Amino acid sequence: MDMEVTTQIRQSVAQLCSDFPGTYWQEKDRERAYPVEFVNALTEAGLLASLIPEEYGGAGLPLSVASAILEEIHANGCNGAACHAQMYTMGTILRHGNDEQRKEYLPKIATGELRLQAFAVTEPTAGTDTSSITTMAVRDGDEYVINGQKVWTSRAEHSDLMILLARTTAKSEVKKKSDGLSVFLIDMRKAVGNGMTIRPIRTMINHATTEVFFDNLRIPADSLIGEEGKGFKYILTGMNAERILIASECIGDARWFIETASNYVRDRKVFGRPIGQNQGVQFPIARSYAQSEAAKLMVEKAYNLYDEGKNCGAEANMCKMLASEASWAAAEACLQSHGGFGFAEEYDVERKFRESRLYQIAPISTNLILSYIAEHELDLPRSY
Ligand SMILES: Cc1cc2nc3c(=O)[nH]c(=O)nc-3n(C[C@H](O)[C@H](O)[C@H](O)COP(=O)(O)OP(=O)(O)OC[C@H]3O[C@@H](n4cnc5c(N)ncnc54)[C@H](O)[C@@H]3O)c2cc1C
Repeated sequence: MDMEVTTQIRQSVAQLCSDFPGTYWQEKDRERAYPVEFVNALTEAGLLASLIPEEYGGAGLPLSVASAILEEIHANGCNGAACHAQMYTMGTILRHGNDEQRKEYLPKIATGELRLQAFAVTEPTAGTDTSSITTMAVRDGDEYVINGQKVWTSRAEHSDLMILLARTTAKSEVKKKSDGLSVFLIDMRKAVGNGMTIRPIRTMINHATTEVFFDNLRIPADSLIGEEGKGFKYILTGMNAERILIASECIGDARWFIETASNYVRDRKVFGRPIGQNQGVQFPIARSYAQSEAAKLMVEKAYNLYDEGKNCGAEANMCKMLASEASWAAAEACLQSHGGFGFAEEYDVERKFRESRLYQIAPISTNLILSYIAEHELDLPRSY
């Protein structure tokens, strides 16, 4: 992508973010409220439709630009978690939906008329072992009937549509455990109150995450995306983009922490001199800078491979792991540099500190990435 275009988009994102200062996020965080105004501003600017092809009303931009958008949001002290899924969840429809589904949904997702930002995969008992999910969708004439439960379905209360992964054949009846899983596009406006119940989960961060219960929810049979039983593969193909974009948010967080810490330690005087003059204060910030610059190179490698249509599984995983560790190192250095003020809400450090911790757990935890690298890159025995 033309560097100039990316630079211009970065500048317009930074400009948009300047309308949403720390006080805005502090208030939302205190009330665990959804940042509606911020999400609306991004939608109106067309930024959430950047990955949707032009023929469906989007900007048709590559992942490298989406990465720049999310990095910039986080580097400017804002949080893309309220809406990042609107950017990439549609990829399941784009890549695996039929013509009708693409034409019906993508243009409305592009304008923001329809919000598709609920992605329901994780279940309480299965955890990371996705093939052990038990939510079942049973075909009944022109419908599927769904029963089961999801957990950590983020933004479900702020979405019109949901991508759901459910079993259509029980695990005990399939040869390969990843077979028999199917993907559905659910119209939540019709489902809530008619077999779908959403319960918010209060967490250490303001993330609008929920539990979702399915009790004989009936959906039209044409809600199925792609072929029945092939859903696991469809979900996996979307995960690389998700990991690269989350890694970009981590790089943005690291930039915010490093800049905030550096500004503070330059100004704060203790024992008659800036605390930033002490190597004990400088070094953790400098180390996290080196870590984040290295992680950024891996993010770039990953999105370049993705944009060239090449396999980027290892790079997507590695960049998510490295970037989430770099942002955490920067968060730790920033909090420590601020001393007691790091704990004060008005400095934003404690909030960003809490928020940045998530990415070593979600969307995939560090251990599972290490297991992937060991198995697929180093040819070591599968450990689970
Ligand atoms: C705020 C938030 C938002 C989320 N949003 C969504 C969402 O929108 N949609 C969605 O589907 N999910 C979402 N998730 C779920 C998230 O993807 C999972 O929490 C994550 O993948 C980890 O799964 P788990 O919580 O079941 O942990 P578990 O699988 O129970 O794992 C717990 C710990 O054990 C370790 N572990 C497990 N198995 C192994 C092994 N074989 N080897 C070594 N270590 C292992 C893990 O690394 C982890 O540290 C969200 C989670 C959170 C907290």
